[in-house]
Amino acid sequence: MNPFRRPLIAGNWKMNMGGRDACELANAVAKRTRVNDRVDVVVAPPFTAIAAVAHEVEEVRGSIDVAEGFGVGIAAQNLHAKSSGAFTGEVSAPMLRDAGATWVIIGHSERRQLFGETDEGVAEKTKAALEADLRPIVCVGETLAEREAGQTLAVVERQLRAFMGLLATSPGVGVVAYEPVWAIGTGRVASPQDAQQVHGRIRELLAEVSEELAEATCVLYGGSVKADNAAGLLGEADIDGALVGGASLDAEGFGGIADAAQRLALALAEESEAESEPDAVPNAREAEHEVDLSPAAFAGEADLSPETFDTAEAEQDAYSAAANDEGESAPDVAASEAAPAEQAAAAGQGDEQQAPDDEQPPDDAQADDAAPAEQAAGDDDGDAADDDGDAADDEQADDAAPAEQAAGDDDDDDDDDDDDDDDDDDDDDDELATEVIPSDEPKKK
Ligand code: PEP
Repeated sequence: MNPFRRPLIAGNWKMNMGGRDACELANAVAKRTRVNDRVDVVVAPPFTAIAAVAHEVEEVRGSIDVAEGFGVGIAAQNLHAKSSGAFTGEVSAPMLRDAGATWVIIGHSERRQLFGETDEGVAEKTKAALEADLRPIVCVGETLAEREAGQTLAVVERQLRAFMGLLATSPGVGVVAYEPVWAIGTGRVASPQDAQQVHGRIRELLAEVSEELAEATCVLYGGSVKADNAAGLLGEADIDGALVGGASLDAEGFGGIADAAQRLALALAEESEAESEPDAVPNAREAEHEVDLSPAAFAGEADLSPETFDTAEAEQDAYSAAANDEGESAPDVAASEAAPAEQAAAAGQGDEQQAPDDEQPPDDAQADDAAPAEQAAGDDDGDAADDDGDAADDEQADDAAPAEQAAGDDDDDDDDDDDDDDDDDDDDDDELATEVIPSDEPKKK
């Protein structure tokens, strides 16, 4: 993440959640994420539930105190490029706006693979969305076969070039989501380093349109993101958020991902403020928001669950207790003595858990000189196959810069990459590890 781009955590509910269930989930998500005022939270219900969900989140917003800057945006999962006409079964951008959506997912790999969507079609839809004032989240990503053939960057580049020029008219409105197809619904997640490599390339390509576009555009990662692997991914400089499928169907799990983004955003903001105003008193702005972002809160010692906020009284208590008392909200002495971002780091490390699919032994190394956001991200050894995420294996980086603590311990992955990047002549290292990739299995959701 980067202090100048607001992170976005978007939940794609796919073809799940009809009316009542959708409203219940939306209600729970709105309450659970109400403290995440540094993060844009978006949910994408199916078409049939958009209006009800939009209404529900507004109800929540009006019935409880929410942090300034809080809001749950509503996305559609698709749209038709035409605004009206004889297109039986289709839904247009103006109709989505009318129903309460302000975002739309375009070109998801399931649309591309199962419904034959092309790069050209994705571009047309992106244009239609922008014209209707819907913020597009446009998906790109390689299949397993393409990755194994070393075509990852070429595929992503081709997909991106089809629509990136359209985003130039309003930099920062459109969002790109990099979703490796092999990671969607499989439980396999790209290593932060591999994902960052693709994200970095996406930003380079956006810079060909304009530097402003590159700087302003949120580039999300999607593919089996969960609360326990989010921090590692979000700690990378060009990963500005997540597009979440399966984990977005559970408010607590989804909220955990938003929490990870919130911690990093705070750590980065504080680091950035400290750099620009070395003598400024820290935390003045955060105190206004009255949110408990102490390590304890994120280690489960403070209750941020929806139940906590069920009544106005409970919420008032929680807010006041959390916000007012300097020092009181941070029971972890070691962490409370640390710099702000170090607190985020402490919390992030504690949160990491082993991913169910990971079977490799831990091999984390200490990251004394990690880059800023890395510490906030927690423990990422960088390899999906051996991403142990086990806090017990990690050692705290002692001398890292503030946001480094938040990102955690990224040891390098083994770099046995296979992506020959034939479309790309940079020297980099553009090779992407393949042994971490699972087979192209049917998706869970
Ligand atoms: C998705 O559908 O966009 C997605 C990333 O799904 P999941 O998180 O389940 O892999």
